[in-house]
Amino acid sequence: MNLSERDLLYNWHPYTQHKTAAIHPAIVKGKGALLWDEHGKEFIDAIASWWVNPFGHSNTVIAEAIYQQLTTLEHVLFGGFTHDKAVLLSEKLIPLLPSNQKKLFYSDNGSTAVEVALKGAFQYYYNKGIKKTKFIAFEDAFHGDTFGAMAASGITFYSEAFQGAMLEVTRIPVPTKGKETETLAQLQALVESKDYAAFIFEPLVLGAAGMVMYAPEVLDQMIAMCRAHDVFTIADEVMTGFGKTGKTFACDYLMHQPDMMCLSKALTGGTIPMAITSFSQEIYDGFYDNDVNKALFHGHTFTANPTGCAAALASIDLLLTPEMQNHISRIHLRHLDFETKIKNHPRVKTTRVLGVIFALEIRTDSEESYYGTLRNKLYHFFIEKGIILRPVANTIYVLPPYIITDTQLQNVYETIEKALEIV
Ligand SMILES: *Cc1c(COP(=O)(O)O)cnc(C)c1O
Repeated sequence: MNLSERDLLYNWHPYTQHKTAAIHPAIVKGKGALLWDEHGKEFIDAIASWWVNPFGHSNTVIAEAIYQQLTTLEHVLFGGFTHDKAVLLSEKLIPLLPSNQKKLFYSDNGSTAVEVALKGAFQYYYNKGIKKTKFIAFEDAFHGDTFGAMAASGITFYSEAFQGAMLEVTRIPVPTKGKETETLAQLQALVESKDYAAFIFEPLVLGAAGMVMYAPEVLDQMIAMCRAHDVFTIADEVMTGFGKTGKTFACDYLMHQPDMMCLSKALTGGTIPMAITSFSQEIYDGFYDNDVNKALFHGHTFTANPTGCAAALASIDLLLTPEMQNHISRIHLRHLDFETKIKNHPRVKTTRVLGVIFALEIRTDSEESYYGTLRNKLYHFFIEKGIILRPVANTIYVLPPYIITDTQLQNVYETIEKALEIV
């Protein structure tokens, strides 16, 4: 049996119906934007392995930082202790975040970063004796798969089975072009009701929804509206963070600052699972008290793992190099060129570009479902051609590692053009 066959004996894969799923290629090596399977087939990783890997696979700079850390201090508990890498990482990150972000809480993944933010907002009001227990979120949002994060997520595909067992969340439409007024009116009515602790959103781009985009101006108005009515704002930058939108954070496009931010995915350059929730001083102060019961009783065994912190330190240094910033601008320009070329194709409904993110919606006769027939046909077409893309319903998007070469990127575009001929 080969690895792909042995895998099926014991492994249960995410988001997978094993009865109907195709065999999973077994990847044995990665370098730069490329991956190779056990039979030597080469793949271009055009989605940075679920948006985590900006600097390429098997990056030696991050690997060296991890090795040094593993042989110096691999881990120490963060309850009651601290360590140099957590201090250094926080010192490096704070100046990059919106200036009102003052305290960092470490955890393991995007979902836990979101849980910490939701609990932060919830307990802040509890500590003050104010009843605000509901949340506002976008329809089609994705914030993760643990219970709190799932409740905040709007894509029903993921959460249908659990309705009735979750936090109370009210959904408003994503303010895409033309829908701004409707969204603002709905938000206004909700914030005036006084029941809501926070509004959580993916700033400017909803990743899992298919790279759905909306303008910074409307988000600014929404944040201002929340602030005026004591509803906290949580910017979930798990996907958008660390350069994807062309700026370090999507919130860098805004005039107003969120009260909390969630970071993960590219934080460690796609190496070690780690996440951070950042908070304003105001929220932190809501927990700061002589009463131990007012503390945030949340933690994870591997909170602020030193190896993860070392990987994040190396990653942020890489991100800030002029070379990496040039890669981001280069990909953005290539995307714009491809958009100009493809947008009038008869099968193309719309296109969108922000930073290194390119998305294209295919014109279809009927509404396509999230993991529907069209999506599956496209997915397998790309895999067969050696391109890793995960279309969502009728949307094909590209979010490559920043170090992808022009030739590799051209190959991705050309394969998308070919895909338009077969659908
Ligand atoms: C991926 C993602 C999450 C969840 O992160 P996990 O590490 O998969 O738990 C949360 N929010 C957004 C915006 C994401 O893209």
